[in-house]
Amino acid sequence: MPAMGKLTLKDLDLRGKCVLVRVDFNVPLRRINESDRYEVADDTRIRAALPTIKTIRAANGKAVLMSHLGRPKGTPDPRYSLSPVAIRLGELLDTVPRFSSETVGSIVEKTVRAMPYGSVILLENTRYFPGETTNDPDFAAELAKLGDVFVNDAFGTAHRAHASNVGVAKHFSRAAAGFLLERELIQLGSVLESPHPPTVALLGGAKVSDKMGVITNLADIADHILIGGAMAYTFLKAQGVSVGNSLVEEDRLGDALEILDKTAGKLLLPCDHVVSTAIDEPDARRLLSDAIEDDFMGLDIGPETITQYTAKVLQARTCIWNGPMGVFEVPAFASGTNAMAHAVAESTDNGAVTIVGGGDSVAALKKTGLDNQVTHVSTGGGAMLDFLEGKALPGLMALTDKQ
Ligand code: AMP
Repeated sequence: MPAMGKLTLKDLDLRGKCVLVRVDFNVPLRRINESDRYEVADDTRIRAALPTIKTIRAANGKAVLMSHLGRPKGTPDPRYSLSPVAIRLGELLDTVPRFSSETVGSIVEKTVRAMPYGSVILLENTRYFPGETTNDPDFAAELAKLGDVFVNDAFGTAHRAHASNVGVAKHFSRAAAGFLLERELIQLGSVLESPHPPTVALLGGAKVSDKMGVITNLADIADHILIGGAMAYTFLKAQGVSVGNSLVEEDRLGDALEILDKTAGKLLLPCDHVVSTAIDEPDARRLLSDAIEDDFMGLDIGPETITQYTAKVLQARTCIWNGPMGVFEVPAFASGTNAMAHAVAESTDNGAVTIVGGGDSVAALKKTGLDNQVTHVSTGGGAMLDFLEGKALPGLMALTDKQ
């Protein structure tokens, strides 16, 4: 099911065309020497879009790239300018892309018309306009004037219906998935459609509420669902275990019990915990294997849980990981997350198909230098969760059906 029955880049005749591409260049930036200038701190998402951009250039098309970056609140804000991204893109391509400080309008339309075929232009942040996130039809129509065909290669925003990925697509008779979007759908789709058992889902992070749908949907295909992070404490409290000051979603205790019931023994919870009095009190940390006392909060999975979860991950032939096992940003509470990064990489060595998504899990994987040792690093967090939950992704639905 390549790209779920939608047109892909391979189906388009790109020669002599202006190809408007929605990329996901929502990358972290850092200040250069405490000045007002920024540079790209992590170029993974830029590299991920290169196959699509290079293909358009090689076919003698013009690549007109658009993306959002951060949350500039619908108005220009230099902290969220894409100009540092254009510089990094130029270093990664064998051409210097143009950068347009205008996102839409007659000036950029003229620039695009005058550009030679085979060249690349990056437009300024689509979220400088309030119409982007409201999917405003007028803003979408302005964007659409910049291309003859439309390609969506932004998996990270495919779960949102915005002007630059959904509204814009209506204006084209041919709107296709780029290579990155296609690859994400193939990799994630294969997990849902034909997982090789045993299938293990490793889910962590702060909120149960974000992952309830995924847990329920994965319960049909996964053999084991391993829960870590603060999420575990809502489940434990729902079962009547004392969790002290741990982060709990009180309004989700009933839902948690229902999930425990539905997943009938597949769902594993931590049996020991690294606790402390507060996130910023790593020196007060202790290891507990049962009830967490009132003044303490669970901040990482403990060594016995690491052993149990590692064993399950190493037995897996399919493994999906989304969300950290603890407050991994603080080294004292990062052992569980780092151990899972190693386990998932080792499982890949053993022949398992492993897919990791979500900003924090991917960051942990990179920190441990293991991001090249898993089958697929997804560029989507929320989009990956929605896809695994079985929800239709608006950014994908808006593309043209294959005949
Ligand atoms: P999410 O966005 O739901 O994936 O949550 C990620 C955040 O959850 C990270 O910033 C972690 O620091 C945080 N987190 C993970 N485990 C815990 C925990 N036990 N207590 C508090 N925060 C946690």
